[in-house]
Amino acid sequence: MKRGRVFSGIRCTSGQHIGNYLGAMVNYVALQEDYDCIYSIVDIHSLTTLEETDRLRQNVLETALDLLAAGIDPQRSILYVQSHVPEVVELATLLGMVTPLGWLTRVPTFKEKVRMHPDNVNYGLVGYPVLMTADIILYKADTVPVGEDQLPHLELAREIARRFNRLFGDTFPEPQGKLSQAPMILGLDGVNKMSKSLNNDIPLAATPEETERRVMTAVTDPQRTHRHIPGRPEVCNVYSLHRFFNPDQVEVVYGECTTAKRGCVECKKQLAEGINRALAPFRQRRAELAARSDYVEGVLADGAARASVIARETLVEARDRIGLPAPYAH
Ligand code: SF4
Repeated sequence: MKRGRVFSGIRCTSGQHIGNYLGAMVNYVALQEDYDCIYSIVDIHSLTTLEETDRLRQNVLETALDLLAAGIDPQRSILYVQSHVPEVVELATLLGMVTPLGWLTRVPTFKEKVRMHPDNVNYGLVGYPVLMTADIILYKADTVPVGEDQLPHLELAREIARRFNRLFGDTFPEPQGKLSQAPMILGLDGVNKMSKSLNNDIPLAATPEETERRVMTAVTDPQRTHRHIPGRPEVCNVYSLHRFFNPDQVEVVYGECTTAKRGCVECKKQLAEGINRALAPFRQRRAELAARSDYVEGVLADGAARASVIARETLVEARDRIGLPAPYAH
């Protein structure tokens, strides 16, 4: 039976955190068993905010290190840098011609970004979903791993692909969302999704000491103002994280918290130990890969070459469907 094709774009940052790991990366690794996977480090998408371009090259490599250390297998999957397959930009331009502006301005994240950065509402920001659609359908991917919050974006990608197909004939599959089972991981503030920009994250590549320092800042049950007051694990994010990193201790944590037999300080220390234990193999692999930058760059070069073969084929087909003239021979 033909395997489906997965595509996912990963924003490049100076290091992924445990929210990215549990929420996406573990899933990326598992998908390799059943799908042909294409994972793109989406550096062009990072340009919409233009905040960190001086670190962009470094961030691309850091992200590649995280993905490879987590278990992305370059023999089975394609891992490449978005801007190294520039066909995506041409396809995004073509898709832009069939995408009504109203579809883009109604996207909730666009409205939110306009509210947050009213001085930087650029063309790239409004066109973000078109580039995202081009990312996916350039490879005729049929499956996209998504969290619940990304479903509206995927629906828009499907609408754009559908519109192209209606206007120019069947060209692109409408990508299906594959809902990740991983829950949303809250940050150390216990309120917002874990995010580097909110400074509520636990970096994957942190040292064990840094990890403990970060975990000790976690907000717990706000009603537990004294060691002798019983806690409410169900409202405490430290407890939620124990589920992932100390699964065999969850009942003990619950029992001791609700009877005030344990304090939050020792509870957090135990969590930090669990995180450090669980991430030790990842951190070791990451350090080994970091010492082999030629290997990592080689993986990305090979990934771009393999992705380009598919991309060029799709683009020739799309141009032909639209009726653009093929390049003339000399
Ligand atoms: Fe949270 Fe643990 Fe404190 Fe209970 S003891 S409130 S689970 S940190």
